[in-house]
Amino acid sequence: MSEKVRVFWFRRDMRFEDNVGLYHALSGDFPVLPVFIFDRHILDELPKDDARVTFIHDELQKMRSHLQDQFGSSIATYHDTPENAFKELIEDFDIEAVYANRDYEPYAYKRDANINALLAQNGIEFHDFKDQVIFEKTEVEKNDGGMYLVFTPYMKQWKKEFENIDFKTFPSEDLLENTYKNSRLPNLSLSDMGFEKSSIKVPEHNFDKELLKNYEDTRNIPSIEGTSRLSPYLRFGTIGYRKVVEKALSVKNEAFLDELIWREFYKAILHNYPETQERAFKPKYDRIEWRNNEEEFEKWKTGQTGYPIVDAGMRQLNETGWMHNRLRMVVGSFLCKHLLIDWRWGEAYFAEKLLDYEMSSNVGGWQWVAGSGVDAAPYFRVFNPYSQTDRFDKDKKYIKKWVPEFDSDKYPEPMVEHKPARERCLETYKEAVKN
Ligand code: FAD
Repeated sequence: MSEKVRVFWFRRDMRFEDNVGLYHALSGDFPVLPVFIFDRHILDELPKDDARVTFIHDELQKMRSHLQDQFGSSIATYHDTPENAFKELIEDFDIEAVYANRDYEPYAYKRDANINALLAQNGIEFHDFKDQVIFEKTEVEKNDGGMYLVFTPYMKQWKKEFENIDFKTFPSEDLLENTYKNSRLPNLSLSDMGFEKSSIKVPEHNFDKELLKNYEDTRNIPSIEGTSRLSPYLRFGTIGYRKVVEKALSVKNEAFLDELIWREFYKAILHNYPETQERAFKPKYDRIEWRNNEEEFEKWKTGQTGYPIVDAGMRQLNETGWMHNRLRMVVGSFLCKHLLIDWRWGEAYFAEKLLDYEMSSNVGGWQWVAGSGVDAAPYFRVFNPYSQTDRFDKDKKYIKKWVPEFDSDKYPEPMVEHKPARERCLETYKEAVKN
């Protein structure tokens, strides 16, 4: 057995800079062995050319090269269940303790509890830290305790609490000399794991001061780059969240900060109410008699509904792995309300396709459009795809980009008419939510 090491387990915090758990791990007296596990519980469910696996793999290779070149160290990479990977680690190394950043999704929560138990059986401590949010679980609470279920008071309280904290960054990048010196740790290619390189790439983000200054005016126009495109970077933690918040605070307009707070709000909701990953937050909404027509679902998925704005959104998603927020609301509302297809179907399709897939924001967003979530759109608000086009894509620039044939005879007729579909939706919802 080799010398005693401390393990740092990278998960959704794939960076060296300002990484809280890594900072604490590296601040001790033991060399730190960085570890990444391609979790079979998750990977086994994914298509072989999954764009997120390619992205994570590329990032990991960059991080390994940096450690190898600068410090003669590396990242040990496994393709297994976390339980098996840790059993192997325990066998191969004398582990002092394991460090990680907290992860708030229901699966991750159970996974960490299991690993914690396994480590405890072997006399190894597990230390976890808050890294991906400013406030977690119950840190922004109502005066009488309990979680805010409406966004605006949550956001106001978040800002109040923020004034009272010691907001600082954690310079983990300056301590990398303390990583464990062994550059020949196990590595894996995509094909070793049965995967292939995806043709979809995570686009560059355009998060700068200029964007933030104009964000309020640009954020709802899908034909321009008016939002940051930070979401995949925040999802995998390749960019540090505290630096993003710091920059958001540096401009007068708080619209961007408010969106970051939505992200935290949904994380806290899912953490406090994990059952909402599959159940309506408002139970009455689980009584809706969804039509769930498979053929119609297929038309929605492939962008063939005959509604250009809906089809443009779906094609952007299918081709790039990202969709503008305005369109997420439009296509989501169309699926749940015009077609009466269960929001869980839409949620699952987004989960498969989105580069930025986050269960908390996705479930939160879908329950918002379905009307069943916390602080959701009222059920009688049925987005009209035509007026959404007039308001947010007046000159049809976005539509022309993704559905160039929209005004030709190659384009399908609308699969449902707006007015009767709206009425059918209202009747169905009314029936479900009465008394
Ligand atoms: P920007 O407008 O630049 O916002 C900056 C950051 O704020 C985003 O990166 C994101 O982290 C956060 N943010 C912005 N809007 C929201 C919001 N409404 N809810 C929560 N966080 C927000 N976001 C995801 O990150 N992952 C998802 O899986 C996801 N699924 C969604 C599903 C539906 C049905 C809806 C309506 C929204 C969903 N969102 C999701 C929220 C939002 O659409 C994306 O965060 C946003 O479009 C990402 O682009 P951006 O980084 O350019 O956003």
